[in-house]
Amino acid sequence: MAFPQSECVASVQAAVRLPDRSRPADTPRNHQYWMAQAIALARAMQGRVWPNPAVGCVIVRDGEIVGRGQTQFGGRPHAERVALDDAGVQANGAVLYVTLEPCSHWGKTPPCADAIIAAGIICVHAALQDPDPRVNGGGFRRLLEAGVKVQVGLAADEARKIMAGFFHRVATGQPLLTIGARPEPPIAIPDGFDALLHSIDGRPWLTTRKKAGGAMTVALGQTSGAQALLGELGSQGLTSIYLPSDDQLVESVRARLGGTR
Ligand SMILES: [Zn+2]
Repeated sequence: MAFPQSECVASVQAAVRLPDRSRPADTPRNHQYWMAQAIALARAMQGRVWPNPAVGCVIVRDGEIVGRGQTQFGGRPHAERVALDDAGVQANGAVLYVTLEPCSHWGKTPPCADAIIAAGIICVHAALQDPDPRVNGGGFRRLLEAGVKVQVGLAADEARKIMAGFFHRVATGQPLLTIGARPEPPIAIPDGFDALLHSIDGRPWLTTRKKAGGAMTVALGQTSGAQALLGELGSQGLTSIYLPSDDQLVESVRARLGGTR
């Protein structure tokens, strides 16, 4: 579904160059600049927020960031909720930049689209539409119906890279599998991945991060092949899995799946 590419600027200052001690004077503050801040926030949480995608959000008013948010460990709260709480009353009349469509469904928390409307945001720039069937344009529709302007597509390629595993799982039911060099130490989870898949004596094990730091390794049940194993990991909510190329599982995965990266 295509959404209108409405222009919206919270204030004239949002599109002009302003002096700022924290960055080079010639850095323009424009839509790309603000979305880049949201992208950076999202990237910092990549691999730590499954079953949800890593999303970043900034709220801008009169040429200044008044709220920042990123998806929290384990997927909640969502980036928009964190940014709105950070901005407080300053969100009223402000513009919100977010790397994924705000949610419109009641999960364990109220929908972010409703919170954005209630806070008085006047325009939302989103990098991508959320492919989750529970959202899939519903967040944009809700915003538009409430009179909030919506623009979609800014920094879409960068946002898609950060959420590649989430998009893959929504499309296939399985986490995106990456086969690469053995990490150091051997069962460390490489940055940006939800988990490390590896085997001990032919049996699959999974290493995930713990919120308090460190990692947890658990044996996986015996399944009938790589396809079933990845399906099981997808149903647990994992979005991106790393498998060392020297692991015993690689051969069976390659034989069954073919199209890994
Ligand atoms: Zn949300």
